[in-house]
Amino acid sequence: MPSGRNSVNSIIVGGLSPFTTIDFPTVTSAFVVFCQGCFWRCPYCQNRLLQPAKNSKLSWKNVFKEICQRKGFVEGVVFSGGEPLIQPAIMEGIQQVRAEGFRVALHTSGAVPRVLEKVLPLVDWVGFDIKAPFAKYEKVTFYGGSGRLAQTSLNILINSGVEFECRTTVYPKLLQQDDILQIAQSLREIGVKTYALQECFDKERLPMHSDCFAPEFLQKIEQCFQKFVVRKV
Ligand code: SF4
Repeated sequence: MPSGRNSVNSIIVGGLSPFTTIDFPTVTSAFVVFCQGCFWRCPYCQNRLLQPAKNSKLSWKNVFKEICQRKGFVEGVVFSGGEPLIQPAIMEGIQQVRAEGFRVALHTSGAVPRVLEKVLPLVDWVGFDIKAPFAKYEKVTFYGGSGRLAQTSLNILINSGVEFECRTTVYPKLLQQDDILQIAQSLREIGVKTYALQECFDKERLPMHSDCFAPEFLQKIEQCFQKFVVRKV
């Protein structure tokens, strides 16, 4: 195996969750690989330790071995983050996992559209983060041009035909009802069928109150989609 930047062994893994039934809804159970590194700086990031693109003690070689040991017990592997698409060898990692018979899910913010386009033919399901109305993205991500990148990626995803869910974590200091309504309407217009609204938690891991979860408001959002999910902390 070559050991360069694009070698599959260069994938930096920050954490694992060996069994989940919620991160990949189209399979019965899955193994989650949390890839290290993200350029964006959402203030509510729940995986802040994964933001720096530093090396980790978990080598891909050992992670892959662990995945293979779960054959027959889990059906799928989820590449989550951080942002998995910034790993130069993500394609090779997905190929390796598929070759062992696992189905593959990707959790992404859509930060790297050209990589998303390349990997989508190998992916069975995508969880796609919508941070804010596209014009307001930078206020949430603190990264210039992030709205344009996410919008490009979402169009690529829709055109790919791969099954996906869009989801928004409601950080009450930056997102209000107007923003969520604007997001829901713009997603409906471009044909998004499944949307989830997720509650945010604070440093003490307590739910952050938002009127976006008021029942009458949720009814309004629900009308925009075929499937609408509310995830409370
Ligand atoms: S895009 Fe995701 S991983 Fe990156 S900072 Fe935002 S919440 Fe954290």
